[in-house]
Order: sequence, then structure tokens, then C-alpha cells
Amino acid sequence: MPVPTCRRNTGGSSHRATGLDAHVRTGRTLLALLAVALAGAAPLSALPLVAIDPGHGGTDSGAVGVLPPGAVTGLEPRFNAQLQPVLFEKDVNLDVANRLNAWLMARQFPTLMTRTTDNAGGDMPYTTEGADLKARTDLANGRPAEIFVSIHQNSSSSGAGGTETYVKVAAPEPAQVLAAGIQRMLVACLALPDRGVRERSFYVVRNTTMPAVLVEGGFVSSPVDVALLAQPDFRQKMAEAIGGAVYQYAGLGDPGPICAGAVQAVPPPVPTAIRLARAGSALTKRAGINPQRGDLWIATVRDAAGTPMPSIPVRARLPNGKGVAATSRPDGKVLLAVPRRKGRLVVAVAMPGIAVSARAEVSARRR
Ligand SMILES: [Zn+2]
Repeated sequence: MPVPTCRRNTGGSSHRATGLDAHVRTGRTLLALLAVALAGAAPLSALPLVAIDPGHGGTDSGAVGVLPPGAVTGLEPRFNAQLQPVLFEKDVNLDVANRLNAWLMARQFPTLMTRTTDNAGGDMPYTTEGADLKARTDLANGRPAEIFVSIHQNSSSSGAGGTETYVKVAAPEPAQVLAAGIQRMLVACLALPDRGVRERSFYVVRNTTMPAVLVEGGFVSSPVDVALLAQPDFRQKMAEAIGGAVYQYAGLGDPGPICAGAVQAVPPPVPTAIRLARAGSALTKRAGINPQRGDLWIATVRDAAGTPMPSIPVRARLPNGKGVAATSRPDGKVLLAVPRRKGRLVVAVAMPGIAVSARAEVSARRR
């Protein structure tokens, strides 16, 4: 059940002028107070330890969304069984977490990441969900952290999109205040539909001992959301929104300009086409492939201008169902040995940070 986003002021702005009775305070006292206040502004020891929990990892991809063609993600290229470029929730979560960690550290917050690599909690290989989640909450409870933010992305078969933030059922007020601030800031920065602060006792919010929230930034299942989640700038905005809310929750006031996103980088050339051609027997021998057992095909990777692109990782799905990986040569060509049987040869390309759906399908010829 959706819970409307809490709009009440959470920053304690009701500063009553209790100390401003002119006859009580001399100018000298005020100056002294000011000096104390300045000296004590955001002392390091006073900033809360923030546990940042990038959801999923390792063999647990989290939700998977299909990317629009030509999406430049800045993340590890991923493909589904049909060799469509896809977005893994775990990759988005870790990227947002890294950006949030950097944002908070730049403001002197002590932080704790429950994973920093593509692994389960504690940077351990994934075994079971139970072990993964327990490692995360053990890390946060052990220090202990004073704020816990779990970062996830949503998925739904109903076509839903938008942002929601969770606390455990009957969460104490500090968690509610933190969640309300994060949700408000996320909606302001990301401009996705506001699905509100919700209660659900996810493991990590139920088993942590400090105010804990779980953010569902957007839906990888939504074509609108996934196209945004694919963008590094959008993920930077998500991180800054969460960071800004944590900053306010810590009582530091205005976090300054946030959710500006990163500076738009000039996109690298993107492979946009693959041409598949059957190679002659001479090429077959040169490639060291037994022409009795299979056909040799050549896939040529080209950019939008038609120029062959070297060093592009290519994945092919062969008619026998097997997948092969190779990298294009300096002339943009990739040699592929194809079993001699009827079927379809599908090729997709990937390069660091880019996953494109350029591919070709051909029928393997019988001889
Ligand atoms: Zn998740």
C-alpha cells in the first residue's frame, strides 16, 4: 500500500529565538558563542558513520532490465540469452553506492561500504541470500554504523515506474525522518513518479540496529526508468540526492548544490553495425580452423561512420547453442568458427561502458 511521502519539515527549522533577549546577552558573549559554533561546525567526531549497502552482487544480479539500443552505461556490458544488452540491478546499485560514498567522504563523513566489488556482502563470493544479507548487517552492526542506506532498483511486470523508499514496519521516528528526507530529495532530483515512503521489513532494515532505509531508485523493468538508470549522470543525481538527505539528517543544514549530475562526457565511438560474411577456404586454413568440422564466418565491427573498429569484444551465439567470445582485430574483423548445421548465428558487441544491440542473424549453410 503506497504511503504518501512525508512532507513535514525534518530538519528542525523551528529555531525559536530563545537566546536573543537583548538584555541577557552582551556582544562579547555572542562573539564567544559564535567562535564556539564556528570551531565546532561539523566536527569530525560528530558526523555519523554511514553504512552504504549496494544491493545484490556476484551471481545475484538483482533485477534485469533490457536497455535501449546504443545505451552508454559506463558499466560492465551485460547481455541476456537473446544477446540483447541489459542492465543488471547489482551494477547500478554499486555504481550509485560508490558515487554516494565519494560524495559523503568529500564532506568528511565516515562511511562503511557493505561491498566494494561485484561480490556478495563483505566482498565475499555469493553463496546464499541469507549469508549475503547477514554479512551486510553484521558489518553495519559491528562498528556500529549510525545510518544505514541500502540501495536497490525496482522491477515489476505491471509497467510501474518511479521512486520509493522503505523503512521496516513500525520503524522508530529517526528512520522515518531519514526515509522521508531521502525520498523527498530523490523525487526532487530524479523527477520520477513519487511512490512514497513505504513500510516493509526487508532483512537489512529489520536486522540493523541503527536508523535504516532501503531505497528503490527506479524500475529497471520500466523503459522510461531503465533508459535513465543507464546514464551515469542520472546515477550521480541519485547518489547526490541520498547524500544531501543524509547531510540534512545529520543536522548540517543546507547541503549546497546537489543533483547537478556529472559533466556530460564526450561519448566514445560506439559500434553500431556488424556485418557477417562467410570466409573462403584459404582464410579458414589461416585461422587454423578445420574446414571439415565447421564454417568460418567473419564479423566486421563498424562505427556509425562505417569505419572498422578494433579491440571490440564480440560475443556470438552459435547455431549449436554455444556462445563464443572474441575481440575484433585491428581491421575490425572477428573470425568465428560455426558448426556446420542449420541455425542462426547471432553476434552482439560490447566494449567497456557500452553495450549495443548491433547484431546480425544468418542461416548457417549446409554443404
Ligand atoms: Zn534489489
